[in-house]
This record gives sequence, C-alpha cells and structure tokens, in this order.
Amino acid sequence: MARDPRYDILFEPVKIGPVTARNRFFQVPHCNGMGHQHPQGHAAMRGMKAEGGWAVVATEECEIHPSGDVTPYVEARIWDDHDVPYLSMMTEAVHRHGSLAAVELVHNGPTASNLYSREVPIGPSHQPTNYYPFQARAMDREDIRNYRRWHRDAAIRAKKAGFDIIYVYAGHDLSLPMHFLQKRRNQRTDEYGGSLENRVRLFRELIEEAKSAVGDTCAIAVRFAVEEMMGDDGVSIEGEAKDIVAMLAEHPDLWDVNVSNWKYDSQTSRFAEEGYQEPFTSFVKKLTSKPVVGVGRYTSPDRMVSLIKKGVLDMIGAARPSIADPYLPKKIEEGRIEDIRECIGCNICITGDMTITPLRCTQNPTMGEEWRKGWHPEIIPAKASNDRVLIVGGGPAGLEAARALGLRGYEVALAEGSTELGGRVNKESRLPGLSAWGRVRDYRLGQIGKMSHVETYLDSRMEAANILEQGFERVVLATGSHWRKDGVGRSHGRAIPGLDGANVFSPDDIMEGRMPPSGTVLVYDDDLFYLAGVLAERLVKAGLDVVYVTPGDTASSWTSNTLEVIFINKRLRALGVRVITAHDLVAVKDNVAQLDSAYGEKPHYIAVDAIVPVTARLPEEALYHALMANPDALKDAGIKSVTRIGDCLAPGLIAYAVYAGHRYARELDTNDTSEVKFRRPLPIMATS
Ligand code: ADP
Ligand code: SF4
Repeated sequence: MARDPRYDILFEPVKIGPVTARNRFFQVPHCNGMGHQHPQGHAAMRGMKAEGGWAVVATEECEIHPSGDVTPYVEARIWDDHDVPYLSMMTEAVHRHGSLAAVELVHNGPTASNLYSREVPIGPSHQPTNYYPFQARAMDREDIRNYRRWHRDAAIRAKKAGFDIIYVYAGHDLSLPMHFLQKRRNQRTDEYGGSLENRVRLFRELIEEAKSAVGDTCAIAVRFAVEEMMGDDGVSIEGEAKDIVAMLAEHPDLWDVNVSNWKYDSQTSRFAEEGYQEPFTSFVKKLTSKPVVGVGRYTSPDRMVSLIKKGVLDMIGAARPSIADPYLPKKIEEGRIEDIRECIGCNICITGDMTITPLRCTQNPTMGEEWRKGWHPEIIPAKASNDRVLIVGGGPAGLEAARALGLRGYEVALAEGSTELGGRVNKESRLPGLSAWGRVRDYRLGQIGKMSHVETYLDSRMEAANILEQGFERVVLATGSHWRKDGVGRSHGRAIPGLDGANVFSPDDIMEGRMPPSGTVLVYDDDLFYLAGVLAERLVKAGLDVVYVTPGDTASSWTSNTLEVIFINKRLRALGVRVITAHDLVAVKDNVAQLDSAYGEKPHYIAVDAIVPVTARLPEEALYHALMANPDALKDAGIKSVTRIGDCLAPGLIAYAVYAGHRYARELDTNDTSEVKFRRPLPIMATS
C-alpha cells in the first residue's frame, strides 16, 4: 500500500549540521543492558532500528573515561581505541540501511561509581556519589582541563568509529555538564560556578571543542533536560532552563530535549499519557533555529504530524516506541498503520537495564534476540511441515503463538473458553491506569484477523476428550493461571491460617468484579510488583477503605525496576490507602488480621472485613495432565506433541508469555537439539 499523503511531512529529510537525516524519525539514546558486554547483540539491535526506517539511531550513554565508570550497569564505552572496533560494528549496521549513527558521550561525574575502574569519582564540588557510600571529590581547574580533553578525544574516536552525530549530554542528572549547571551540585567559586554564565561555561566549551575537533563531518547534538521536577533545586522551565537554551541556542547542530530524571523521562502509561513532555519542551523551538527532537512515547502518526506542523518538534524522538516496533517508520511509510505494534508503556524494557541483562519487551518478543537467536521482528521462516496446530487459550501466549505460527504459514485453530480473546490482558487492562496494556491483545487480533488459515473459536472450553477428537498434529496449551487465595507465596510456604473464609477475595475475583461489599479491605502484597497496588486503587475507587500490607520495605517494591515505585507510593497515599510496610500477614481470626513486623516490633492487630491476598499463582495445568495421562490416546489421535507455554507452564510476566508463544512458533519443526539455544559473545583471550 502507498503511504497516506498526510504523513509525507514525516518523511522529509532534515539537515543536522554537516549531515542529513533521511526522515524525521529519531531513535534517541536508550539503555539496553547490552552495551559493551554484548557488542554483537547491541549492533544487531541498533541495525534493526535502521532497517525499520529510523533515520537516526543512537547508542545509549557511552562512557568516555574510567573515572566515569557506571559498573555494574552496562552501557557503551569509548575509553580508548580498543573500544573503536565494537562501536564500528554498530555504526556499520546502522549505515547499511542508510541511517545516521549517533553516540551519546557521557562522563557521569558523581553519579558514576567506578566500581570496576576504582578511580576516585569527580564532581563540580565535594559530594556523595548517588548510589554508594563514598564521595566524589571536587574537580580543580586541571581536572576540568583533563575532562575537556577526554571529551574531545572521545569525539575524535567516535568519528573514527563511524558516528555521524556526536552528543554532548546534559540530561537525567547523570553527566558532568548537567552537574555543573545545577546549583545544588555546583558550589564552586571560580569561573565554573556561581552565575549562570559560569555554570553554563563547561557545557558551552564541550560543544565548541567537539565542533572544532570533528564538526567538519559530524553533527554535534546536545541532550538537555529542561525540567528536573524539583522546583528551585533543579533546572526548571520556570527557572533557568529557558536562559540556558537561549544562551546556547545556535551552538549545537541539534537540540534533543526532555525532562529529568529517568523516572520522569520514561513514565509508564499508568502515570502519563502519550505526549506528556510537550508542556515542558515545547518552548525550545521558539529559541533556536536548529532542529529539535523530543520524546513522549509517540506511537500515533497523526500526533507526530501535528507536532511537526504546530512547530513543537522537528524530529520525532523515540526510545520505547522503537523498541516495541523497530519497523514503526517503515509501516507508516508503506501505509500499514494497522500493523504498528504500539508500545504499551509498561517499562519491562527498562527492567533490563536495572537488572543488568539485555532488554526485553512485552510487545516485541524479538527485542534483544536479533543476534542471539537471529530473530527478526517482521520476518520468520516458512513452515517446515503441514502439521496443523491447536492452541488452547487466547491470552498473550496463545495469541502470539497463533500470530507467529500463522506468519510461518501453519494452519492454526485457537480455542478460547471465555467469550473474549486476551486472557489476563483483558482483566488487567480494565484496572485503573492500565488500559494501554490492551494493545498486547489488539495488535495480535489485528494480525490474526488477516490470516484465513488462523481460526479463532470463542466460548470453546476444551477438555481432553475434545482435543483428542479434533485431529490436530500439534497441541499447544496456553491455558494461563489463577491467583491463589490461601496466602502461599514468597513469605509463606504453607497456607496462612484464617484465609479460608468467604471474606477472602483473590485478585481474579476483584478483576472479574466480585468485590467485597463494604468496609475495610486488607490487600496483602507478597508479590511485590504492580498488581496489589493497582488492586488497592481499584478497591478505593469502589468506595472501600483499604489497608495495604507488604513484607517489602516499600509498596510495590519491585517497581523500582520499572521506575514507578515513587509514583505508586505517592498515589496510594493520595488515595487515602493506609500503607504498612515490612510487615507480614501471619493469621486472620474473627475478622482481625495479625501483622508481624520484620524488625521485631510488637504485632499489629487490625480489624478487617475482607482480605485480598496477592501472593502467587497456580498454572491451569489440569488439561495437560489429563492429556499426558493417556499416551496411547494421544498416539491414536495422531497428536505428535503437547506443549505448555506461558502462565500455564509457570506464571510470569506478560512479556514472558508473549515470548513463550513466539518461541514455540519459531522452534516448531526446527529439531534443534542443542542445550544452549542462543549465541553468546565469548571472551577473547587478549591481554591488552
Ligand atoms: P498467558 O498469559 O499464559 O497467555 P492467560 O491467563 O492470559 O495466560 O490466558 C489463558 C487463557 O486461556 C484465558 O483466556 C482462559 O480463558 C483460557 N483457557 C484456560 N483454560 C482453557 C480451556 N480448557 N479451554 C479453552 N480456553 C481456556
Ligand atoms: Fe513499551 Fe513495554 Fe516494550 Fe518497553 S517493554 S517498549 S514500555 S511495550
């Protein structure tokens, strides 16, 4: 199909200093948990973005010197010439598809920890480092001169590695030029401290020096956080941000602007809508003639067009939308809007960086697997047999298996017991703030709907006998899981006494609308991720008094990995939820819950009318066991395999279920007998 002419504007080239981007799609720097430790994987992932039409593809933070070492986090690295070849792999992968490669040069100053290099951290003034119990020392003039030299040298090396755009980075409270701008971090009395002009000096020098070193062929971009959401203590659009942009307006070749710190920049859909950064960044274009890039989880092409037309941005910046769909620009270009796999704003991708593992995406199961497994987000090998596949269960695992098997050309029937497809995604996307999660279902239904050889059947609860009658060679069980009500979970290997009455409601009950009638509800969160917090919100909105209890030290503690923990904790308090942390629910008797303290305080006793334990799930595996109990019947029915995928095998994240469905489809008929099913970057035994 041809592109809709109203999107033509998105495909205009944009001149950025000495280079030209072929369209307005800009993959801004994003962490990925691969960086210098998984160079082939990193290069292949970035190359895929270029292949999918992003005109500019950037690295994540790229450390320029051992004194700015962010270990244990894994980012890009350009300490010396040894790093050039692996970075060249990335630039070559990007250039192969006609895109520009950008590198975000960074020295993290007092936000680096130098755990690997053991250098003493440096900063504008003496101050504690961000994450560890030791300090950064104040830089003297010689340190500043050295730092400027490292930055300039890194720019020269970056050019050697083939980068077209070199960033000077002042964002996220994570880099020295930003730290020098911040009054709270910079208490210097020399020409680099005090007045705004002095605090901007270093930023200006870095831009000028990068330009003089490599600006003949490379564009010099800046990334600048215009708002730190901390009033007078930070850079702010009500304070100095506009003056800073005005002072440096024509210095760089491009402005990439956002809000800070990372939790504000990468907000989830639960807390921020598409375009949430516009009120903060829209002033920038009025102050500069240079191209401006901004982000805001943009997935709607109409929204993108309006941003360009209204003069808010010149290029559409994206990290997460490019992760969920590396082919987003190409799909718009080819008039295939309905094929876009929209980011759901869940931040599972960010948990990769936080847990120091290659990034994974709920919507895009191939993300991070481009090199490891050779998976392409849009291309999948044709089927290798004429086997027909019956999938039981239409949650994320079943839907993705059906989609990907269908793409391979297999004949597929998907039987769903309920009257709608989507499984847990239906239930969860009806909870407060999670409606965008429905995109996991919608994308797959849209794709399956185009394939005549993939049939879906609703209201079709399958028993073993039905399956044996059907005559499919392959059976996939994606029957999901259900939440326990007995309190067994991380903290309790055995049932919690008293959780057997009618006043106990499982998360499934609440999600399906079976609510406690009135009074006080105790939500016990031993799951530690998002669900208990969302259910608490749901219960408050239904007019109940909610007490939230968790053995964790904070509500929804694992959401520190999705950058949501502060927002969730604030919201629970704003809703009037009583939050009790570091306490365990040990018993309920006569409508009184006993809560034991993790730190040896006296137990709390709380009168409750209902309990919602959010502890653990059990797979829906009865069907599997019923089928496997009779191997002869399977054989007689011509069934070659029965495979459990997703929550029905082991309850996990939605991302895991999607991945499991995709993996099943990829591996069917491949007969791979190897134990390690992916490639690894093996260490080279070099000594220098
Ligand atoms: P996952 O996350 O692994 O995809 P879900 O719980 O989201 O799992 O989805 C499982 C789906 O399977 C649900 O929609 C459920 O109604 C359906 N299901 C469970 N058992 C059967 C069955 N025996 N026959 C048909 N559908 C089933
Ligand atoms: Fe978007 Fe979630 Fe994928 Fe991240 S993991 S890109 S937030 S869908």
